[in-house]
Amino acid sequence: MNRRTILKSSIALAGTFLLKSGQATTMRESEKLQTAYISHLACAKHEMGAQHPEQPARMLAVEQALYDAGLLQKMRRFDAPKASKAQLARVHSRAYIERIFKQSPSAGLVQLDADTAMNPYSLEAALRASGAAALGVDLVMTQQAAHVFCNTRPPGHHAGRESSAGFCIFNHVAVAAAHAIAQYGLQRVAIADFDVHHGNGTENIFHDDPRVMLCSSFRHPYYPHSGADSGNHHIINTPLAAGSNGQAFREVVTKQWLPALAQFKPQLLIFSAGFDAHLEDKMGGLAWLEDDYQWITEQLKLVAHQHAKGRIVSVLEGGYALNALGRSAATHVKSLMD
Ligand SMILES: [Zn+2]
Repeated sequence: MNRRTILKSSIALAGTFLLKSGQATTMRESEKLQTAYISHLACAKHEMGAQHPEQPARMLAVEQALYDAGLLQKMRRFDAPKASKAQLARVHSRAYIERIFKQSPSAGLVQLDADTAMNPYSLEAALRASGAAALGVDLVMTQQAAHVFCNTRPPGHHAGRESSAGFCIFNHVAVAAAHAIAQYGLQRVAIADFDVHHGNGTENIFHDDPRVMLCSSFRHPYYPHSGADSGNHHIINTPLAAGSNGQAFREVVTKQWLPALAQFKPQLLIFSAGFDAHLEDKMGGLAWLEDDYQWITEQLKLVAHQHAKGRIVSVLEGGYALNALGRSAATHVKSLMD
């Protein structure tokens, strides 16, 4: 199948993955610390309307690019489990979780906010995206994988304790960080968010929890119009002007993220990996290239190896120009694996 056939059939069939679960790479003792790939067909069935940019084809574009780059074949593949309500309740209110379960439609679309809707598969997709991130934590904490990449949707970083927003229903990186703290007793978890949009949901959840450091770069002023002046010693917000290139990003990371992370000494590193700051992503309006994703991945890998025994869990957030999304995600994953 060529790319077009795969994408076309995957949109129609809600997911035709290139490797079936049963074909997961067998693990030899010597290859114990491979990079893991967590995904699920249900995440490709969540759809918010034909014209919505957060579309099933995004996930397939990422998987296709990983396959074309020869990376997927070297990864251990896991199906994303559903997060439990108890896992979600560490970062979302019980009332909010119950509201989302109640609003899940049996047919058609239910609008949660201006940008986010649920179809009959959205609840399962969101639960599995959060579950993937939590499983990723389990895999790196129990040394079953060195690094993990979660190719899931909907994204999560705009979801706050009580609110959906910006295509996000549950906050997967927050679920993962809270899981690492509750399940494994970690004291310090860092989240690095390089999506073009501010990780406002993640900040909302952890603003007053110094066990979690959030480093978030974002175009400003821009949606969600937050982050420029709300940071503190563990919320490192680095706004970037519209149109700025990867060099501007590298400068704020070098000047602000890396010193903060060096002082914080994270025991686990989680990426909110959005690829919508890419030059070709017209919705994002920044001008990064694949090299910039390689650079940030390498820089934070050094941090993870210095302080966190190399543990990295990366979770897909935004990225809407399908070709650039696939190439950028493949560059990021390759840098994780190298
Ligand atoms: Zn984004």
